[in-house]
Amino acid sequence: MSTLFYTDPACLNHLTPEGHPERVDRLRAVLAALEAPAFAALDRRHAGPADPAELLRCHPQSYIDRIRQAIPSEGIAPLDADTHVSPGSWDAALAALGATLAATDAVLMGEAQNAFAGIRPPGHHAERATPMGFCLFGTVAIAAKRALDHHGLARVAVLDFDVHHGNGTQDLLWDEPRALFISSHQSPLWPGTGAAHETGTSGNILNMPLAPGSGSKEFRAAWEDIAFPQLEAFKPELILISAGFDAHADDPLANLNLQTEDFIWITERICDIADAHAQGRVVSALEGGYDLAALAQSTAAHIKTLMERGA
Ligand SMILES: [Zn+2]
Repeated sequence: MSTLFYTDPACLNHLTPEGHPERVDRLRAVLAALEAPAFAALDRRHAGPADPAELLRCHPQSYIDRIRQAIPSEGIAPLDADTHVSPGSWDAALAALGATLAATDAVLMGEAQNAFAGIRPPGHHAERATPMGFCLFGTVAIAAKRALDHHGLARVAVLDFDVHHGNGTQDLLWDEPRALFISSHQSPLWPGTGAAHETGTSGNILNMPLAPGSGSKEFRAAWEDIAFPQLEAFKPELILISAGFDAHADDPLANLNLQTEDFIWITERICDIADAHAQGRVVSALEGGYDLAALAQSTAAHIKTLMERGA
């Protein structure tokens, strides 16, 4: 078994305004970090764009049409104060989804133990019919739905350690009892959702707000004491990760104080639980992370850990 890495050059064609934190250089920094000799054994694959019909697993056709029609023929068009589209954004979003779905398919078909999708735009803020927070479509939630409806799994977990609440994933999986969504995030912080009392229609949502200034101790305690017992009781057949690295101490958009070692720790613990319940099957996809050095180092450490566990 091994670890697969999916990315797509089309993800570099989604452009945002000058000075915007969610920029092309983020993915370039991640790809550069993976040039190190430690990643020589990483099995790199190119999936191509997802079938647009996959978007219907989580979004209505009217919303899909609206996003497609908002794509400008030149320049950059705002969808809201934070979220923009450029001529390459439609193809980038479908490439991001294609990579994530191919990673999911490959792991579920037994072609690899685990996989990482190095993609942008991110997805965990996109609600059913609302683009938000740099996100157009709920990429990881769509992968969860595909694992359930196409592959026939009974239980899929989505774990989100991005510093921002995964409001979009929560919205898309709110009434999906076959999915358990767990998010740790700084609160208060944009988008303002993710209180502990938001639990989904069947107790299938678990939110763990962390106070500004929280670090390794608080983060690890939340996952170890609250999240992992519920995750183990759920017995997921597949674990998907919304891997945002903006809870790093160096990140400019938030005020948690994680270090690279904390991302290694949570990756190892997730793999432990996947080994116990999910035949080790883990599929992770890039969400946020806006300090280029911290993003590159943290993502590389996350992938290295997946490689060690997938070997
Ligand atoms: Zn974030």
